[in-house]
Amino acid sequence: MRKIFHFDSPAGPYVADAAVLCCFDHRISTAVRKFLKKQGIERADMIIVAGGAKTLASPRNDFEQDFILEQVRMSIRLHQTRRVMVMSHSDCATYGGLAHFKGDKTAEAEHHRGELLRAGELLTSNFPDISVEPYFVKFDGIWEVKGADHLKSATQTGAADHDHKIA
Ligand SMILES: [Zn+2]
Repeated sequence: MRKIFHFDSPAGPYVADAAVLCCFDHRISTAVRKFLKKQGIERADMIIVAGGAKTLASPRNDFEQDFILEQVRMSIRLHQTRRVMVMSHSDCATYGGLAHFKGDKTAEAEHHRGELLRAGELLTSNFPDISVEPYFVKFDGIWEVKGADHLKSATQTGAADHDHKIA
């Protein structure tokens, strides 16, 4: 091998402030990075894949969902992660973009809310001791999913499905 770039990276072990699952869409990457900084998250295990939360909520196949759950499991095991942030975003190509919702941003946000809650429930059922936070990334900022603060208790009582169907 031949060294082609010099940079001194921190070499010590670390505890991750959070694992962050989000889409690889470059348009949202700066907002996500700034949001994490604002949240005081300096050491994040970034799980960046097409669709972000979609890989858990509406996976294209079983492999995809299992693979992402394994990534979260490894972040917890290797870096003692206690917090998982799960994100999806507006105009995501894996959902057919905003065009799939005929340009209706409210309908799109409502659909993503359901997706994010379902992804959150899956994470909570797999990792009951971890705090799960779903977020929707829009082109004007990042939105917390309302009702997700009850995710853990709702899942544990089996009421989650009912809750988000009527919401
Ligand atoms: Zn996307």
